Amino acid sequence: VAFATLGLHDALLRAVKDSGYENATEVQGRAIPPALEGKDLMVSSRTGSGKTASFILPALQQVLNTRAARAAGDKTKVVGPRVLVLAPTRELAMQVAKSAMTYGRHIQGLRVATVLGGMPYAQQLRALAGQLDILIATPGRLLDHINSGRCKLESVTMFVLDEADRMLDMGFIEDIEFVSQQIPATRQTLMYSATFAGNTGRLASQLMKDPQRIDV
Ligand code: AMP
Repeated sequence: VAFATLGLHDALLRAVKDSGYENATEVQGRAIPPALEGKDLMVSSRTGSGKTASFILPALQQVLNTRAARAAGDKTKVVGPRVLVLAPTRELAMQVAKSAMTYGRHIQGLRVATVLGGMPYAQQLRALAGQLDILIATPGRLLDHINSGRCKLESVTMFVLDEADRMLDMGFIEDIEFVSQQIPATRQTLMYSATFAGNTGRLASQLMKDPQRIDV
């Protein structure tokens, strides 16, 4: 389907076009409209299917919606990021951050930060101390920053778990549960995983309300 039919903001459609894409991939066509409606989603799709854009475009739309609400006089105090993305590895998290910058290129002053294990603390601390729209993190390091009081998740309205099955294989289940408890229950949750069997399925039912299942 054409991207233009999915309900995305013009600034995002322009960025998609800049990347040379006219048509959404299957996972994008099926996930983006319900994600924009605020639905919780459990999505199975492979790397290479275009899954990153299927959650980062709705995430960027959240940022735009927040900006529009503020411009219209909404004075709700926003502390920390609006969107939190958890990914299993540094490499994957950096890819997600790159996508956020690419598709967010027409959003003025967009602030995307990464909090990744094995990387120096100084830059992450600076990013967390300032204003922030989208935070992309690996679970262990994020936990460090939460425990030291430097990362607040009370304003997160969208929580994304990318490659959840891999995060569980790596032993991050308790970290993910703890992180999710720091985010208001009214949030939207998007969970991506190759499988929703066993522990991944249990985590899904713990984190989401009446999720829509998308299998690509
Ligand atoms: P992903 O599955 O998110 O790792 O994306 C795989 C690759 O597909 C990336 O290199 C994207 O740049 C590319 N891609 C994303 N969306 C589209 C699209 N709608 N049409 C063609 N390629 C795309």
